[in-house]
Amino acid sequence: MDNDNKVQIQQILNIIKIASLAFPAIAFLQYSSKNPDFLSSITHEALIISILFVILAIYSVWIIIQNRIQKNTTLKRLVDPIISMSIALLSIILTGSYDSNYKFLFIFVILFTSIECNRTTSLIVSALSAVIILSVDLVFAPRADVNVFFESDIVLACVFMIIAWMVGYYDDIRRKHIANLKNLVNIDGLTGLYNHRFFYDYLAKQTELSQKRSAPLSLLFIDIDNFKYYNDIYGHQKGDDVLRIISTLLQETLPREAFLARYGGEEFAVILPGTPEREAVAEAEKIRSAVQEYPFDGQESLPGESLTISVGVSTFPTKAKTDAELIKGADDACYRAKFLCKNRVESYFSILDELHFETEIISQIKTFIAIINAKDKYTYRHVERVVFYCNLLADQLRLSDQDKRNLIYSAYLHDIGKINIAENILIKAEPLTPAEWSTLKQHPQYAVDIIRSIPSFDPVQPIILQHHERYDGTGYPAGLEADAIHPLARLLTVVDSFDAMTSLRPYQKTRTYAQALEELHRCSGTQFDPDTVDAFCQCIQAHNGNGERCEKVFLAFPGAGEGA
Ligand code: GH3
Ligand code: MG
Ligand code: MG
Repeated sequence: MDNDNKVQIQQILNIIKIASLAFPAIAFLQYSSKNPDFLSSITHEALIISILFVILAIYSVWIIIQNRIQKNTTLKRLVDPIISMSIALLSIILTGSYDSNYKFLFIFVILFTSIECNRTTSLIVSALSAVIILSVDLVFAPRADVNVFFESDIVLACVFMIIAWMVGYYDDIRRKHIANLKNLVNIDGLTGLYNHRFFYDYLAKQTELSQKRSAPLSLLFIDIDNFKYYNDIYGHQKGDDVLRIISTLLQETLPREAFLARYGGEEFAVILPGTPEREAVAEAEKIRSAVQEYPFDGQESLPGESLTISVGVSTFPTKAKTDAELIKGADDACYRAKFLCKNRVESYFSILDELHFETEIISQIKTFIAIINAKDKYTYRHVERVVFYCNLLADQLRLSDQDKRNLIYSAYLHDIGKINIAENILIKAEPLTPAEWSTLKQHPQYAVDIIRSIPSFDPVQPIILQHHERYDGTGYPAGLEADAIHPLARLLTVVDSFDAMTSLRPYQKTRTYAQALEELHRCSGTQFDPDTVDAFCQCIQAHNGNGERCEKVFLAFPGAGEGA
């Protein structure tokens, strides 16, 4: 729209400029018809005409070039009025100076400077034009008691000033109006913060700027905890009040250079230019505690008896190389903050990024995971959660660094074989047919086939291949039993199953953490390795975030584990 508007205005300006060139041309023709042999003698008129002609030619080329470039530079703003005023002055001198009928040519100059520049510039141009025509009257008009030309041109000078003022004023109003409309398009009506669309434009520009300056840039993603529940209890109007209060708290708490936007319904985004990760986390922590301490109406009905937010932090260029990666990172971190019991700040990290693999391999793995997530919305973020639990379990069991790494890699890669499984099988709510089962059972083998070409993944092949084996030997693909199953595969099976039980699946009811732990115990010795079950249950219960504290939150909201 902006470009269309610029093109239309440029067209109007072109018409004015062409008209301002046509009149001197007419003056030139008039003069040459009256003085057919003017070029044969070197008179000062002939000289003026030659200069006029050269300037006209140069100016025409200048206009064409400027139209191509389409940039309103200071040079252009200076050159245009200077050349046009020179043309007008030469035309006036040629056509009778003080007695010329071409004094109105200055009006064209005033008109296009009013449109192209601001009101002050057009007033300066009109004052200069007035000085020029009055000076011509004073210098060239015959000496008399009363200079009638000067007198009548004072009126013309006033007309110049009035035109400059009016057109300039009108243009100022138009510009302000457009600026206000643009602002309205970019502002969120409820909170007065910038909206989602503008956030994207701004982030893209800031990332580019940070890259040029080699400066860091941090992004915070803020999501209100349990806001649906708050709305359900108190209604949307009260919810809207909370959104307004939180946006005011953000404005008051964050530094002046922070850019704030309402990213979604109850999500905010903050861009912190020039801020490294550590400072960004400190800012995020300030906001988190400001919200937690604010006495929101009715917050006593919420878990923890206070209304809180979760914040994800990501930083360019250390944690993300592009604006899209920055958003993904902050979103992931916010998700982890939610997952770790909410009301907390998490900064982005990906174990994959920390592995010393070639970036190409890592980006391939990420692509595989993204494809599986897109195919099967029920396993969305399943991989990240399994990695998280495996980390906890590895620490609980004090695994060696090597084993821990292999367990984490296999947690990341265990489902990539699902890429080869049809979507309708992956998300089918009804029981699978025997044929569909046998297809699904091939996914561990498919995963191994995919990673076979990468030597660094050799040690994780058996773990992935065996992560659906059962302790009693009734699993797949090989039906291995007890200690014949790779020890790390036995760990992965328990973690994978626990997450499947506690997250939303089409074919089963979501279980609470307590129910899932009970189910693990029930199947201990049959489906699962008993030692692993014991270790995992201990580690879930011991872990502050996901143990009893989180359990209370989960139990408070039927189905709250669905999002996890
Ligand atoms: P979580 O802690 O996991 O973030 O849970 P949640 O309930 O906050 O998040 P969820 O995404 O399930 O629900 C978001 C809710 O935000 C749904 C809707 O009621 C509320 N919401 C979104 N936009 C607005 C709005 O403009 N005004 C009000 N009052 N509520 C909104
Ligand atoms: Mg949300
Ligand atoms: Mg929320």
